[in-house]
Amino acid sequence: IIRFDKVVKRYGDNVVLRELDFTVDPGERVTLIGPSGSGKTTILRLLMTLETVDGGVIWVDGDPLSHMERNGKLVKANEAHLRRVRSRIGMVFQQFNLFPNMNVRRNITEGPVHSLGVSKDEANQRAEELLELVGLSDKIDAHPTQLSGGQQQRVAIARALAMRPQILLLDEVTSALDPELVAGVLDVLRDIAQSTDITMLCVTHEMSFARDVSHRVMMFDHGQIAEEGTPEKIFGDPQQERTRTFLKAVL
Ligand code: ATP
Repeated sequence: IIRFDKVVKRYGDNVVLRELDFTVDPGERVTLIGPSGSGKTTILRLLMTLETVDGGVIWVDGDPLSHMERNGKLVKANEAHLRRVRSRIGMVFQQFNLFPNMNVRRNITEGPVHSLGVSKDEANQRAEELLELVGLSDKIDAHPTQLSGGQQQRVAIARALAMRPQILLLDEVTSALDPELVAGVLDVLRDIAQSTDITMLCVTHEMSFARDVSHRVMMFDHGQIAEEGTPEKIFGDPQQERTRTFLKAVL
């Protein structure tokens, strides 16, 4: 469902991704680990089209992200194409980024109603289901300022799922939280992993969470995949010195 084909990304002289190749299958849950600055967040930002590639092509469900087909030829993507491809992807960030002037219900229904053209009734019903899933049914009329960071992040997860994305991107979603709030958010994500077949691409420093939910772990170093495999293999029997050093530092 995702394919990176020789993707290059640089900021000035800093080459962040070097001819990176990887694929993610539908329904697969993949965790990206690796030292700070190794390019993990950049991968998610490219998928959200918050950044553009300097070389190579990213494919999402058969469509190239930066280009589109017109009369049998590949031309640069226009905004409508980008919007269509982007609508298949939901993202949750480190900072929860809820709309501060809207209550929880509207935070969740705004996207479906305005971008997908879903009726208000249907959006409301879905919001209620999703709030139940993230354990916040009683907060539907609350404002973001009345919620803890962990609760805000659970609303952000519900908001992303309300758009019915095929792919969920999670970028260090617990790193801005107080330690006692981390487990609640990870439990919600474990539930979602178990109860849906959504494709997940997840950057995290929570190694036990990565072990629980991932089908595959990719260890990044300097914009390339140093090693990848099942969580059992990467955490239990890493082959690369770089992976061993990294895991020693974080575990
Ligand atoms: P972390 O775990 O710290 O978030 P990361 O592996 O996610 O690290 P990225 O955030 O993808 O790493 O950053 C990769 C490199 O790109 C870093 O060297 C960073 O300084 C650089 N970089 C990221 N965004 C920008 C930007 N907007 N402008 C310039 N350089 C950037």
